[in-house]
Amino acid sequence: MNYQELLTKYEFGDIPYEELLKSDEWRAIRKEIIERDLNKCTQCEATTELQVHHKLYFLYRLPWEYANKHLITLCMKCHHDLHEKVVIPFYNSEEEMIPLNYTPCGRCNGMGRIRKYSHVDNGICFKCGGKKYIELIEK
Ligand SMILES: [Zn+2]
Ligand SMILES: [Zn+2]
Ligand SMILES: [Zn+2]
Repeated sequence: MNYQELLTKYEFGDIPYEELLKSDEWRAIRKEIIERDLNKCTQCEATTELQVHHKLYFLYRLPWEYANKHLITLCMKCHHDLHEKVVIPFYNSEEEMIPLNYTPCGRCNGMGRIRKYSHVDNGICFKCGGKKYIELIEK
């Protein structure tokens, strides 16, 4: 499904994060980044369970609306380890770059996904629903 179709399907509410991760747009970018990184984790060189990580976030930007330089391939383990250790910088916009001191979701550490449940619904965090930051849940 592409984003336009998702907008139609979820006309009256938020598009669930797991649907965004399954969209044609995200799949295409994901493939491009993983190929650029030679089909392996850029930390440990694992070649399975690869995911694409955003090095920073901008408010209201869709997962695929980032320059390739902001995206990097990690295996699931390195990806979760990173989110446990590091708070990903979150800005209002790429033009202004004002840091938003939002609080990462305590359940998924701002990753939006939980490793233990990766077999269920792509492992989308049930506390924040993939919104990643406390301040975004309330909206
Ligand atoms: Zn790795
Ligand atoms: Zn990430
Ligand atoms: Zn969460």
